[in-house]
Amino acid sequence: MSREEQIRQKARELGIGKCGIIKAEAMSDYGDRLRERMDRIPQGEALYRRFMGFADPRASFPWAKSIIITACSYGHYHIPAALLPHYGKYYLVDMRLNPASPEAQSLRAFEAYLHELGLRTATEEKYGLTALRWAAFKAGLGRIRRNNFFYTEEGSWFALNAWIIDQELELIETHQVRECPSQCTCCIRSCPTRSLSAPYTMNMATCISRLSTSHEALPYTDEVNRMMGTWLYGCDACQNACPMNKGTWEDRDRFPDLEALAFWLLPEQILSMDYGDILRRLSGKFFYIQEESLWRWKLNAINAMVNAFQEAYIPFLHQAREDRFRIVQEKAQWALHTIGVSSEAS
Ligand code: SF4
Ligand code: SF4
Repeated sequence: MSREEQIRQKARELGIGKCGIIKAEAMSDYGDRLRERMDRIPQGEALYRRFMGFADPRASFPWAKSIIITACSYGHYHIPAALLPHYGKYYLVDMRLNPASPEAQSLRAFEAYLHELGLRTATEEKYGLTALRWAAFKAGLGRIRRNNFFYTEEGSWFALNAWIIDQELELIETHQVRECPSQCTCCIRSCPTRSLSAPYTMNMATCISRLSTSHEALPYTDEVNRMMGTWLYGCDACQNACPMNKGTWEDRDRFPDLEALAFWLLPEQILSMDYGDILRRLSGKFFYIQEESLWRWKLNAINAMVNAFQEAYIPFLHQAREDRFRIVQEKAQWALHTIGVSSEAS
């Protein structure tokens, strides 16, 4: 059995959905795709330029010869209904920093196996060492659709992981993922901020996934506040709207700790927590909101409350006027004004 087949077999034994291997130089055309993106969205250039290094892993790892890429489904977990309007599902069942998750355990065992084979590896769980979707596409694991998400035959609910390795191997799989229907624009029409303005054309600066985790202490305009709707952390709108995701989520398994955490993820509970609690309860899992900008949680919670207002939120909004951070105080004032409640009442 070839080394590539051994690796593929091990991945299957461990329940890892898909696995492929590309040569390091196969990533070079990712740079062309990024340049195309920057040409289409000049205002996003600074954000996209940061990813240029992903096109050549050998620049950071001179010993890099190939990249192993895996796709693990997370579309089999139960998501508490109350959280669906507020969170990108991926973040709720994020296996990256949860050693109790079966997927994380499989990936650790897989990495140990690569070492047993004598491979030198490098990986980065949080932010990745290369462009994971492009690598998975090049390895034949599936297709990148017009909403920019990576799809297998079972939809877009896949977490991708990559290991740079020091041996020249190649395992290009074949897939049965159909192209997007020629006239379909469901994802583009569903995007609340119009960040996804055309096929494969997304302005990262206005995507809710970024807006909801930004550490810039600048208030958003009323229009942006409205467009963010009820999203608190991430956004699934362009995946939820996609017909290729229809029927692909299986509400089957419980993700470790999610049920216990769900209560604290509701907007009003985020407002009721002090920053120490937010750090302790949320930051390990939702690491895109940095420790220095935990006020972002409260801004997002207030915004979600305004966009799906309930009378029960009013005391929480009044309480937020006393927050430690001025930006939160002002957002609470704005919220009370927007919903037409006197900020003098308590
Ligand atoms: S994640 Fe949300 S905001 Fe971002 S492109 Fe998709 S629909 Fe638009
Ligand atoms: S919504 Fe339509 S166009 Fe967009 S990714 Fe899905 S199939 Fe493709």
